[in-house]
Amino acid sequence: MSLKAKNNHLIIQPCPCCSGLAEWVDVKASSIILWQLACNQCGLATNLEDKKSTCLLVWNKRHDNNRIKIVFALMLLTLLLTSIMAFVLGMIFSSIR
Ligand SMILES: [Zn+2]
Repeated sequence: MSLKAKNNHLIIQPCPCCSGLAEWVDVKASSIILWQLACNQCGLATNLEDKKSTCLLVWNKRHDNNRIKIVFALMLLTLLLTSIMAFVLGMIFSSIR
């Protein structure tokens, strides 16, 4: 189970914007190599990092954040619709009386 979780962590998640494939980009700056994960479809990319693992962590985290944002937006929409419904129902009931 722990091995599976470890492997899962190393998987590059698809792009949070377009679900495209992310690819490694390496940038040679003087003596060090910087890494970046970039989407091959929309160009979304992480910051340049000196460790591949940091890049991957940021990229996968971004994916999670995006999912949270979608859930949050849906919750907000539901709340908005509920309040509109309540308002309309209130209007109907007050007009009946
Ligand atoms: Zn993309």
